[in-house]
Amino acid sequence: MTAQTPRWIRNFVDGHFIDPDDGGKSFDAIDPATGLAHARVHEADAPLVDRAVTAARKALGPWSATAVRERTEVLRRAADLIEARFDEFVAAEVADTGKPVALARDLDVARAVANFRTFADIVAAAGQESFLTDLPGGRHALNYAVRKPLGVVAVIVPWNLPLLLLTWKVAPALACGNTVVVKPSEETPGTAALLAEVLAEAGLPAGAYNVVHGFGGGSAGEYVTTHPGIDGVTFTGSTATGAHVMRTVAPRVRPVSFELGGKNAALVFPDADLEETLDGLTRSVFANTGQVCLCTERVYVHRSVFADVADGLVERARSLRLGSPLDPATTTGPLISQAHRQKVRGYLDLAGELGAKVLTGGGTPALGTELDGGSWIEPTLWTGLTNADRPVREEIFGPVAALIPFDTEDEAVALANDTDYGLAASVWTRDLRRGHRVAQAMNVGMSWVNTWFLRDLRSPFGGVGLSGLGREGGASSLHFYTEPTNVCVQL
Ligand code: NDP
Repeated sequence: MTAQTPRWIRNFVDGHFIDPDDGGKSFDAIDPATGLAHARVHEADAPLVDRAVTAARKALGPWSATAVRERTEVLRRAADLIEARFDEFVAAEVADTGKPVALARDLDVARAVANFRTFADIVAAAGQESFLTDLPGGRHALNYAVRKPLGVVAVIVPWNLPLLLLTWKVAPALACGNTVVVKPSEETPGTAALLAEVLAEAGLPAGAYNVVHGFGGGSAGEYVTTHPGIDGVTFTGSTATGAHVMRTVAPRVRPVSFELGGKNAALVFPDADLEETLDGLTRSVFANTGQVCLCTERVYVHRSVFADVADGLVERARSLRLGSPLDPATTTGPLISQAHRQKVRGYLDLAGELGAKVLTGGGTPALGTELDGGSWIEPTLWTGLTNADRPVREEIFGPVAALIPFDTEDEAVALANDTDYGLAASVWTRDLRRGHRVAQAMNVGMSWVNTWFLRDLRSPFGGVGLSGLGREGGASSLHFYTEPTNVCVQL
């Protein structure tokens, strides 16, 4: 991008992209792999957010009255259109996040397609609760719940899996008859804007999907979540921001769904299949440069296999290929920003001060001129830390993990549950009884056995403790994005 010819990423309100006005504010979209701006983003001010909420309110009546079959057909067409423009979506996601092109293809954009198709299926097949109530004298009453859309939903999403998380919320919200005002992270505005084109072409009426770009406090994020015209907020992001948004929404008592941070554990038992476990751990620690809320940052390993697991994981970490996201052989991209790299480096320094042994990584790599300005970090593994240490207690959100030994199953469960977070865990064992037992004992929303991040979109997703409030996915999404009115008829 040159200063003379910026590629604009614009707000989308009431079915139209809004051209930036001369006096309006804007900011650069930065490619994290190079540190260079690749587009200029129009920042939505409070009046524009108000227009977006008003447009969503206006569109709500007609869209919610549209037959479910028609609504789900719009979703299916959207999935087809994302597939037709697959490479464009991949390019936009890679430019904003710096993630490897293979990951953007296989995970982010593929899941966006699946989100639209799956939630079209789920909503099309949804029934409703009904009960026949016994009354004296052999008479009955019929109770049935009519589910109505929640209304105008604010959708706030982070930068790590921008399109995946956006469509995870927008697809069920629209399928249930809601309209949405979306605020993507300021780091990753591109695919939310592209999705506006796709949804319009798929036949979604003007005003049902609006995108406002900007930051959090004092910007679009705050304007959306504090707007009196919002009927509910679905938020994915950090625990601190989530708690703040919860406070801002509280005076108006609106339904909220919060998918927040994690500090996830893996538990490796001595009978685990070593190769499969190492492959799984490598993915769970380093996928998306450790920037997945589900990523493992605590690896508890039975003492009898500790050395084997540590050696194997180090070998795999060293074989990861950092480099240009556009190179199909690249496995690992940069962190999202220099600010985030500063945060992760702070934990690397702290671990050093606490006496951690660095098995591999621990610094910032030099990759060559064109990537010198990027926010790169080395995949890092530590031993020598305990659950009392901050790098083991706080979410780092980078390609780092602490390996900690245990001696008994009870000790492993206690160590894994000794956290304020409660998002996900993975258990590695060939003993199925142990697998079920330990997986169920985890105080988390999602527990995997011999795998990680294997998702069925019909199953509930979310966390406990500092990891969030409520669940989405399958029936849980239908519950969040609708409000029931129970009707009782004496027969
Ligand atoms: P943040 O909490 O910083 O931001 C999340 C979103 O909220 C962004 O769009 C942000 O805008 C916006 N925001 C910030 N402040 C406010 C405000 N005052 N009012 C309204 N909106 C606001 O999270 P990150 O983007 O840094 O994402 C990383 C975090 O997300 C990690 O903690 C990770 O664990 C979590 N996460 C959780 C998942 C889950 O399902 N549980 C899944 C993926 C990530 P802007 O970016 O423009 O400031």
